[in-house]
Amino acid sequence: MSRTALLCVILLGSSLLFFGCRFQGGIEGKAILSEESAEQVITVYSARHYGTDTDVFEAYTDQTGIQVLEVKGTAEELVQRLVEEGEDTNADLFITADGGILYDAKQRGILQPFDSETIREQVPEQWRDPDDEFVALTTRARVLVYAKDRVDPSELSTYEALADDKWEGRLLVRSSSNLYNQSLLAFMVESLGRESAFHWAEGLVHNLARQPEGGDRAQAKAVANGVGDVAIVNTYYIGQMLASANSEEVRAAENLGVFFPNQQTTGTHMNISGAGLVQHAPNREEAVKLIEFMTGVEGQTLLTQGSFEFPINNAADKPPLLDEWDGFHRQSYSFEQLYKHHNIVKTITEQAGWN
Ligand code: FE
Repeated sequence: MSRTALLCVILLGSSLLFFGCRFQGGIEGKAILSEESAEQVITVYSARHYGTDTDVFEAYTDQTGIQVLEVKGTAEELVQRLVEEGEDTNADLFITADGGILYDAKQRGILQPFDSETIREQVPEQWRDPDDEFVALTTRARVLVYAKDRVDPSELSTYEALADDKWEGRLLVRSSSNLYNQSLLAFMVESLGRESAFHWAEGLVHNLARQPEGGDRAQAKAVANGVGDVAIVNTYYIGQMLASANSEEVRAAENLGVFFPNQQTTGTHMNISGAGLVQHAPNREEAVKLIEFMTGVEGQTLLTQGSFEFPINNAADKPPLLDEWDGFHRQSYSFEQLYKHHNIVKTITEQAGWN
């Protein structure tokens, strides 16, 4: 049972104080809390879908006695909800897996700056919002995953080269409605310009082995199953598959190679998972402390060991696979640079027929 559900059960079984309690999926309810159990609660609106976050929150609760209530939704839903709730919100933190959305949240005025020397020490500057309204928790590289038995890595080079005729009927990528792909396309617009990015998207769609379906993991599995030869995928899905309890997933991942594109040019496209401090956070100080914990060694180790994302704190104890992958050239664009292409990206994907 998730901590959300668990906490709400505890609250519903007590008496005296009223406390706003929100369940997964956005259903709201009022719960009652007794004076003895009137523990402090930090509310996190989270669009992340990894169980590791709950492990981190539980570790935080064990150390501080402060409960963490996770409210899940898509990033867009949660931003909308924060806008609508305004100063009545229970949310202290907004956590999501896309730097563009965090930047958008900041632009809409639903975040506020925090001033923490600890966070500044733990997180390199490039992974912090310049105004300290949000900070990265992890980074993720959007890479090429290929069938080791059908593709030689010397055939791979850049995202751009995926539009070549050579790859006709051989590529796999998820829907363009997904934020990871919107961010990738914004990266292409920033590096190539609008016109060339459009032609690239057209070429990519032309070369697809099938219409986009499923998430990144489904693309990786489809390569392993011979549906296509190369897929665009975030690295951590391969780490999760290799560590999976499902032997079929492990076998599939073992047949896949991971290639970091654009090493001689822009660097590989990177995105972040990050946390923003909500403008009307009822528990501002405690929420900042939770970010400090999440970006500290223990929080970072728990996050990265479970999710296989790259930690932002180098002192974290990473899975050995991440050391194998590390050392590649990463993009240096800011989220502001990428997010400004948000509307163009939607037009391009529509015109290019990328569903
Ligand atoms: Fe993901």
